[in-house]
Amino acid sequence: SGFHSPDATFYSKRRPIPLPPNPSLDVATFISSRAHHGSAAPAFIDAATGRQLTFPELFRSVESLSAALSSMGIRKGDVVLLLSPNSIFFPIICLSVLSLGAIITTTNPLNTTREIAKQAADSRPVLAFTTQQLAPKLAELGLPVVLIDSEELAPGSAAGQMRIAGTLEKMMRTATGAKRVRDRIDQNDMATLLYSSGTTGASKGVVSSHRNLIAMVQTVISRFNLDHTDSHRFICTVPMFHIYGLAAFATGILAAGSTVIVLSKFDLHEMLSSIEKYRATYLPLVPPILIALVNGASQIRSKYDLSSLQSVLSGGAPLSKEVTEGFLEKYPRVTILQGYGLTESTGMGASTDTLEESRRYGTAGMLSPSMEAKVVDPETGAALGVNQTGELWLKGPTIMKGYFGNVEATASTLNSEGWLRTGDLCYIDEDGFIFVVDRLKELIKYKGYQVPPAELESLLLTHPDIADAAVIPFPDKEVGQYPMAYVVRKGGSGLTDRAVMDFVTKQVAPYKRIRRVAFVDSIPKNPSGKILRKDLIQLATSKL
Ligand code: AMP
Repeated sequence: SGFHSPDATFYSKRRPIPLPPNPSLDVATFISSRAHHGSAAPAFIDAATGRQLTFPELFRSVESLSAALSSMGIRKGDVVLLLSPNSIFFPIICLSVLSLGAIITTTNPLNTTREIAKQAADSRPVLAFTTQQLAPKLAELGLPVVLIDSEELAPGSAAGQMRIAGTLEKMMRTATGAKRVRDRIDQNDMATLLYSSGTTGASKGVVSSHRNLIAMVQTVISRFNLDHTDSHRFICTVPMFHIYGLAAFATGILAAGSTVIVLSKFDLHEMLSSIEKYRATYLPLVPPILIALVNGASQIRSKYDLSSLQSVLSGGAPLSKEVTEGFLEKYPRVTILQGYGLTESTGMGASTDTLEESRRYGTAGMLSPSMEAKVVDPETGAALGVNQTGELWLKGPTIMKGYFGNVEATASTLNSEGWLRTGDLCYIDEDGFIFVVDRLKELIKYKGYQVPPAELESLLLTHPDIADAAVIPFPDKEVGQYPMAYVVRKGGSGLTDRAVMDFVTKQVAPYKRIRRVAFVDSIPKNPSGKILRKDLIQLATSKL
């Protein structure tokens, strides 16, 4: 078919993205140079309050905040932790930190104090940004904290232990032109540190460089044909702490002069009324929300005017052909565009971009611009051809540099030629469309959120009545998958499934909860001690 070369590499059929040759360039400067500063449309609107941020205001705030951070001593290579729901300030914080050559690490606001402390122990931030409400989750870290949404902590909160380094509003009012240290930033320098469990084990810091982010921004712009047309209005309800929201809304789309309507979190009613109120054209979602839109279609359509909506974007987890068909039947004037990617590929990988491409139901899309792929037989390591199923490998300008401080995990995920093992079982058809068949890696995705089984297994093993445990994905129509535990009780213990679930619930974010438990005499393992997850998945689902 032309694009499948003799070396078994699949090349993208999309026009390659231009990448700036200047080796010394940071992504914040790049975005500012790309953006349409004179755009009449606002860059961001807070859906709840209606507060708007114009492009000039946005970039002035970035200037001020980075000067303020610089005068606080933040330098190239320092890590800054951002614990916040979506807000119009999220992008300002990211760009300010990045413009200094400092590194942003984000975390899910639902995470527990324990989970956040673990990430902080690995990434070693020197400063944190958070909200008044979330601040107590950082109390024990001993970090200086900038409050995003208020002047002070609520009385009686963890205030006593915390060093408040400033408030965002005040820092954004700092006179621009205040002295700031300008470190030389290379495109190859580390920019973001988002956490992902990859193909195996616990969460690891994914190192994306400025160049990775610049390439991602270029990919987003080319995907939506967003060259300084200010006619698009995106609803942002996907989380900005995840690569999906960070790529699209904290960086990618704002380089192109479109308007982003920000919801602090997902709420069906708020989302639908915001589409109506702000005449939104694009709605990026994860599959479980698409399912909710299908199931509630008749009430939704009678209650809300969704006539402005052109496209729903689906990503983060597989979208079935049935849901796609159900959606198009209920909302015939809206197209569904798919996006496939990983934190490890800075969110990029494949997408469907046009009405015609969107008609390939079930596909995750065609390779992103400048991306190459191989389909590799997981048993033999042989590179496969068209319509043959194997593990998808990706190579291109958005592929991460590696896992932070983890040479071993990096080496088993990225090979010496720069190929990333995605852990997804896929095939590529004769027209270049990628179909995700199954997940080879352990990862569980609950409503698009990552749940690393290894993390829950090591937690279960700390229970005094548990001798051994394995956690697997249990398929579910609405949420995608939820965690199920196989547990071996210690001799004589009367441990119940409820007790197992409660034990985990107390210590993890809600999306990681174990929602099903089965007791077994032993966990099936191979001779080297690896859990035979496929056997357990088969056992769990054979009765369905
Ligand atoms: P994350 O790093 O959290 O973005 O997770 C990446 C993983 O999510 C991929 O390796 C896939 O297993 C899954 N995924 C993301 N997008 C899609 C999609 N459009 N279709 C199927 N699976 C997807």
